[in-house]
Amino acid sequence: MAGKAKPKKHTAKELKQKQDAALTNKGGGKAGLADRKGGAAGHAKFKCPICGMAAPSIKSGELHWDSKHPKMPFKPEEWSDLHAIHGGTTKGVAVKGAEKEKTVHELKKTEAGRKRLAEIEKEKLEKQFQDVKLNK
Ligand SMILES: [Zn+2]
Repeated sequence: MAGKAKPKKHTAKELKQKQDAALTNKGGGKAGLADRKGGAAGHAKFKCPICGMAAPSIKSGELHWDSKHPKMPFKPEEWSDLHAIHGGTTKGVAVKGAEKEKTVHELKKTEAGRKRLAEIEKEKLEKQFQDVKLNK
């Protein structure tokens, strides 16, 4: 009888490296980079309806309004909430530990999984289409 397989030892340093690699928002190609920039919405949440200046909060938007467009009444409802429009800012798509995606094989087993697969395919196609447009 063969001896037991030697248990794999991980040094604290190795484990730390693995943890960092899994939790750091890095890599992920174009999607990861775009996401770190805040996705389509950017990090600033609000956008001035007059000049398009980005503001992180409605309060800073009001300050901007008072100094730049003081002749008009400040209407917070006219400020587009970019995060609401684009479904939030940075999602951390490149953070490997954040959301464990099932394998294609696993997904095919369930109805919800097949739906998810179709979504992934659609996203891929849309992304390719966008890349083609951007590279023009
Ligand atoms: Zn403005």
